[in-house]
Amino acid sequence: MKKRSIAGMLAILTLAGAVLTGCSGNSSTTSAQTGSGSQQGGNTSQVVNIYSDRNYETDKQLLEQFSKETGIKVNVIEGKSDELIERLAREGKDSQADLLITADVGRLHRAKEQGLLQSVQSDTLSKNVPENLKDKDNQWYGLTVRARVLVYAKDRVNPSQLSTYEDLTDPKWNKKILVRGSDSIYNQSLLASFIAINGEEKAKAWAKGIVDNMARTPKGADRDQAKAVVAGEGDVAIMNTYYYGLLLNSSDPEEVKVAKQLGVFFPNQNTTGTHINVSGAGVTASSKNKENAIKLIEFLSSEKAQKQFAEANFEYPANPAVEPSELLKSWGTFKRQDINLTKLGENNKKAVEILNQVGWK
Ligand code: FE
Repeated sequence: MKKRSIAGMLAILTLAGAVLTGCSGNSSTTSAQTGSGSQQGGNTSQVVNIYSDRNYETDKQLLEQFSKETGIKVNVIEGKSDELIERLAREGKDSQADLLITADVGRLHRAKEQGLLQSVQSDTLSKNVPENLKDKDNQWYGLTVRARVLVYAKDRVNPSQLSTYEDLTDPKWNKKILVRGSDSIYNQSLLASFIAINGEEKAKAWAKGIVDNMARTPKGADRDQAKAVVAGEGDVAIMNTYYYGLLLNSSDPEEVKVAKQLGVFFPNQNTTGTHINVSGAGVTASSKNKENAIKLIEFLSSEKAQKQFAEANFEYPANPAVEPSELLKSWGTFKRQDINLTKLGENNKKAVEILNQVGWK
């Protein structure tokens, strides 16, 4: 989902040497500082350093706006989520990072468990981010929301045949279900939600039932499952909403064609609701610019920033005062799982264990 092409448009700056030490191969450093006047009288404390797995033109514009409004210079180190968390751990208290922005509660919770984040009290964040979309100890805040839905082959499946995640384990779907591997944090979090809602035993039975109905041994990522449905390998795939949005808006006409042959279905609408997850931000334990980091999360959670921030990746805003994009609205409103997302992190280890036990590759 990375749009690497915009990297070239961003000014490459050099951060403090400590930040770049041990830099993983594909990380890049950019600055959202906007010309003169952004720094206040050479006061280098007016800065905030972000480790982020996002690379969108929209983000760049938002960060520039933040710099303009506050005079705080923003430096961004981009990289893959797990690598950024590993890097934070490796750097320890010497890390120059103030803010970690990454996708999925499972990952945010891992950072929390390793002591890499810290609690933040903020009235603005309490107001902008609903209780269930943030860490129960305020160590991370959800900023965008995605749903893990079903996509189906419109020419072979009538949506009236679909109902719940649980129904996908019915023998009628034998060899028809496409889903990525158990190493995917998205599947771990999905199962973690079932552990929270239905208990361990039922969650395990569900995972086993899905393995029994898989059209193939899991391979590829979410979009590959959608493509496999269109190629006739199976009838229904489990995928995150933004990947459908990305396919539909792809610069590759073949991907657009794939999206157009698929329908989107929000499962469990009459029962426990569709699984949701977030992309979010947490202030690092090592932060040297904590106040600036908090200001930046507050800014990103604000009504004026939320729509743009979410739409960059075809996601739903976390701030309930902000409407989703027209595309997302066209899929209709839906009932969400009613759990505190902190649970997804807390149940992650159990979920991984179950996925291994049932042979989900
Ligand atoms: Fe993703």
